[in-house]
Amino acid sequence: MVDYSLILQNLKFFNISTDKFTIFEWKPPKSLKSYILDLNVIRKNTVSNIFFHLFRGEMKIVHIRLKNLIYTVGSNNEVQFQLLEAFIEKVSETFNDIYDIESYIKYDNFSITMFSSFKEEIDTIIRDFNSYNLVMDLKVPCMVCNGILPVIVKRSFIEHAESYPVPLVYNHKGHAILCFIDKNYDIRGVELVNVTG
Ligand SMILES: [Zn+2]
Repeated sequence: MVDYSLILQNLKFFNISTDKFTIFEWKPPKSLKSYILDLNVIRKNTVSNIFFHLFRGEMKIVHIRLKNLIYTVGSNNEVQFQLLEAFIEKVSETFNDIYDIESYIKYDNFSITMFSSFKEEIDTIIRDFNSYNLVMDLKVPCMVCNGILPVIVKRSFIEHAESYPVPLVYNHKGHAILCFIDKNYDIRGVELVNVTG
């Protein structure tokens, strides 16, 4: 089994924000750089419940708006987007379990110092990530690389799918493959796809 805790050592920051300001930020212990995050751009995106992926220099950024909060994670390029999404899902669930944040916002009754101890929860989630069983690592053949690629897939993505097999595009090394995954996590087909954007 892949050691996801090791992969998650590549995280650069985790930010939880309202429409107006940051309420929580985590950075790895040895982080010397301060990452200037253009959260203003992310905050202007009013779409809820959809993960957005950005590339910013050497960094990958994933963000999602869930109710009144925006969750943003940054990592280097070693971490696949599906793992970052699964990480956000786990962190947001834990944050909402601990804090009744939606009421705090509704009544404007909180101080951000309330959330500073949540940094330890982030460290715990990274350390224990394998035990949550939130992702699967699949082996997918690529006809361009001529090899077998490790592809990480969120269980929530497969288990909440409306039909099977589920399509997933894996964009890597300048090309992309489209894989079809069934509900048992078996690969039912792989195609080379053209990409624009
Ligand atoms: Zn390839």
